[in-house]
Amino acid sequence: MRNPVAKAWCCVGIMMLGVGLMMTSLAFLKTPGLVYLFLIIGIAVFIGGIVLHYAIVRCPHCGSHLGRLYGPRCPFCGKEYNKAE
Ligand SMILES: [Zn+2]
Repeated sequence: MRNPVAKAWCCVGIMMLGVGLMMTSLAFLKTPGLVYLFLIIGIAVFIGGIVLHYAIVRCPHCGSHLGRLYGPRCPFCGKEYNKAE
């Protein structure tokens, strides 16, 4: 997978999974120990998604972290990040 947009969505998916785990633990689990366990796993998954985003969602030309992707061009070097030359 070389497309930064696909990678970014993948990371957002992981973050959502973490949030989902946190919400699920707070909403449905009645055992305090399990709630804490799932909360910690959820937070870890969420942070993992953010870290992964910073690690892999990068411009193929200048290597800058792209953050939120607006338009087809890298905001730092102005080249199209979907075209890796
Ligand atoms: Zn760039």
